[in-house]
Amino acid sequence: MGLFDWIRISGDALKQIEDKMYQEKKDFLEVYQRNIALEKEIALRTEELRNANQTLLTLEHVWDMMNSSRPLSSVLETIVSSLHGEFGYMYSCIIQKQLDTKGTFYSFRTYLQNSFLEELNACIPVNIFEARFTIKEGSQLYDVVQNKEAKCFNNLWDVLFEAYPESPSGAKFEEFKKKNLIKSLIALPIVSKGFTGILLVFSPREDTKDSELNFLSLFTRQIELAITIANLFETVKKQAVTDPLTELFNRRFYEDALSREAVRALRLNQPFTLISLDLDKLKQINDTLGHQAGDAAIRAVARVITKNSRSIDVPSRVGGEEFTIILPGIDSQGGLIAAERIRSSLENEHVEGVGKVTASVGVATFIEMTTDVDELVEIADKAMYFAKENGRNQVKLAETKDSISWQDIAIDAFLQILDRHKIPFGKKTADELIKRLQTKQETNTGGVTKELLYDVADSISKTYSPYYVRGITKQKIRLAYQIAKRFDLPKVDLDKLKLAMLLYDIGNVMIPNNVLTKKTPLTNEEKEVITKHPIIAAQEILKPITPIAGIIPIIEHHHENWDGTGYPGKKSGDEIPLISQIILIVDSYFAMIQDRPYRSAYSKEEAVAEIQNLAGKKYSVELVKEFVNAINDIDPFI
Ligand code: GH3
Ligand code: MG
Repeated sequence: MGLFDWIRISGDALKQIEDKMYQEKKDFLEVYQRNIALEKEIALRTEELRNANQTLLTLEHVWDMMNSSRPLSSVLETIVSSLHGEFGYMYSCIIQKQLDTKGTFYSFRTYLQNSFLEELNACIPVNIFEARFTIKEGSQLYDVVQNKEAKCFNNLWDVLFEAYPESPSGAKFEEFKKKNLIKSLIALPIVSKGFTGILLVFSPREDTKDSELNFLSLFTRQIELAITIANLFETVKKQAVTDPLTELFNRRFYEDALSREAVRALRLNQPFTLISLDLDKLKQINDTLGHQAGDAAIRAVARVITKNSRSIDVPSRVGGEEFTIILPGIDSQGGLIAAERIRSSLENEHVEGVGKVTASVGVATFIEMTTDVDELVEIADKAMYFAKENGRNQVKLAETKDSISWQDIAIDAFLQILDRHKIPFGKKTADELIKRLQTKQETNTGGVTKELLYDVADSISKTYSPYYVRGITKQKIRLAYQIAKRFDLPKVDLDKLKLAMLLYDIGNVMIPNNVLTKKTPLTNEEKEVITKHPIIAAQEILKPITPIAGIIPIIEHHHENWDGTGYPGKKSGDEIPLISQIILIVDSYFAMIQDRPYRSAYSKEEAVAEIQNLAGKKYSVELVKEFVNAINDIDPFI
């Protein structure tokens, strides 16, 4: 092989190598380019995945929200605000279709009140929060509500102008759009049971991507679910406290309400009355006319009770044919009137398929009769059974349980007062009184001797009253009791009167002695001390003693005059508790027949004449009449 041959062969080989290298380089470039494209795609997919993940998180958050038992408004608010920032959205809100007497309209239902909304509001002439607008046929939003279509609008101003035709010009709105970077408005229909609305989303982009619309559609489905769940929750909540046959409250609600009311009553020192009502002869109605007639009778009772209840009362069906009504703020006299109204309207109601239906009713009052809820229920039921036994179709007032006599309550009250307050007598006297009060059971098997109570009351009066006469408490109570009996007061009130008579002056222990014994006329300041302070002091001293909570209002008003010139409430006429009126007349009488630094004592006749003079002014005419009768029957000076 010659040199040229060798060169040719080598050249060919070189070319082959070159060709191969070129081919490999081309392949490499192709792979390289493909890799770059792949990387781009990976980045895009990653972004999509991240978005999807974020979307899922938002939806999950919304889902958690919906499963909480919060009210619908609060759920919707959280849902709407969780959309902010998603896909770069500037703002979102919900408008809802509503109906009232003037017809159908749309208004803002859920929105975040921020500068965005305020600026938008400034573009239209009405207050966006209160404004109602209509979505007319053919208008831009009409398709959204009519065909349940999601839509994206670029012509925002037109949409707004249709909703608020009075809007003046779009210039301000354009400015608002620019400032807030808004390019479009996405509107999505919300349709759930009892709820039609639109989710409005302000977007910074001209167009919406499919993925975005998918997400928003999913989001509105969540809103619809939230509304369904919230409505369901409301229904379940209502069902849980309602009796299905009568729609009155059920036993569970009644028991909760009773405990709540007791706590409130003690805190505010206000009574409440419990009415216990049982249908008469329901078994007979069932047996003779059938169960359906029995049900009709039960519903009739519920109807009558509802009709005669105030909105704050709690009427419940607590058993098959047993009903209760809690009447907040009502004392036993008011309770009796309410119960009688229910009884008589039931009697006068014609029940379809049954005819006349009657009920037996018991009435018990908290604080006034007891401060124990179980005992209240017990005495109300007892009164109701008593009404049954006495011929049915009647109302009976409960009686306090015998176990706590007014004497026992008084002993307890005195012990607590002596224990808590510095009554200004020597320690020996206080200890002696406490000992006597504590050992009362040992000395008196059949209860407490009233003498002991009168004695303690006398001893306490002695510390503040320079005109104290031993035995005066007993005389005052005797006279007060005689007057009260003439008014046919029930036993509970007579007991209250006796307790109040023992304690009505207790606030005087706080008045400086020099004011009480002053011979010259009192200054205004001193008068204030004499009038206001004892009442405040009495309240402070007596308030912590729960069994006597019922007599605090009586004591509070024992200086009110019939004509409204008294204190502290300037109450007049029947506004003043009768027991307070009796205390006033007895107290005045005993003050008159005693010497005072500024006058000598009236004779008995003079005092009676003076009281008669004040009939119709300081005291009611009727009270003066019964006072005179009582005075003539007993002679309190003997
Ligand atoms: P009284 O005047 O003594 O209360 O007589 P009564 O028949 O009403 O009382 P009793 O306790 O003997 O019977 C109560 C009846 O009430 C028996 C029970 O079948 C009936 N009852 C309880 N719940 C319902 C109900 O939901 N519907 C109907 N129709 N009857 C009921
Ligand atoms: Mg019955």
